Amino acid sequence: MKYELQLKNIKEGFRKDVERLSQQKISNCYQCGKCSAGCPVAYAMEYPPTMAMRMIQLGMHDRLMSANTSWFCVSCETCTTRCPREIDIAKVMDTLKIMAQAGKYKLSDNEIPIFDWIFLKSIELTGKIYEIGMIGAYNMLSLNPFKDVFPMGVKMILKGKISFIPHLIYNPIEMIKNIRMFKRIKKKDRERIYEKNA
Ligand code: SF4
Ligand code: SF4
Repeated sequence: MKYELQLKNIKEGFRKDVERLSQQKISNCYQCGKCSAGCPVAYAMEYPPTMAMRMIQLGMHDRLMSANTSWFCVSCETCTTRCPREIDIAKVMDTLKIMAQAGKYKLSDNEIPIFDWIFLKSIELTGKIYEIGMIGAYNMLSLNPFKDVFPMGVKMILKGKISFIPHLIYNPIEMIKNIRMFKRIKKKDRERIYEKNA
């Protein structure tokens, strides 16, 4: 898609926000492409890491935040290791996800953030992955209630591969610790996101 680059259209605020939160100097990126060349999931990303870095520099938050890029990142850190400018790109990808979840920038239209939220909620509430709860919540929230239910879901239930009963952490103290840890992380993320620019 054509994008007309004009100095007056460059939104510095987005780059500054990402740089402050990730503590990475994204303006140092000189577009060598080594990060994208090594990224194992670049082929599936709407914008591979090199493009994502350029979009941050240009303040193109609308396009980047509504793309699958950061959600497809598997945090392997290959890009970080390869970057000649010593930018921790994996950390930048994590930062984009945190910013999207915190609602400061437009959340992606795709369903990946919904899955990400349900996945973490499952661990927060049960201490482990509760497959049926996750599948049910994901299908309902993505408005596709019967996705993967027939025949695969039913077969897995009949074979005892997934259970209706969540596997909880049975030690109540550990359970409380788990919930508190999630609360602390969420509070810290929000504080970081919404604190004023230094
Ligand atoms: S950390 Fe993410 S962006 Fe970097 S190479 Fe791995 S998958 Fe790609
Ligand atoms: S490897 Fe580093 S300098 Fe090269 S394009 Fe990626 S982020 Fe930019």
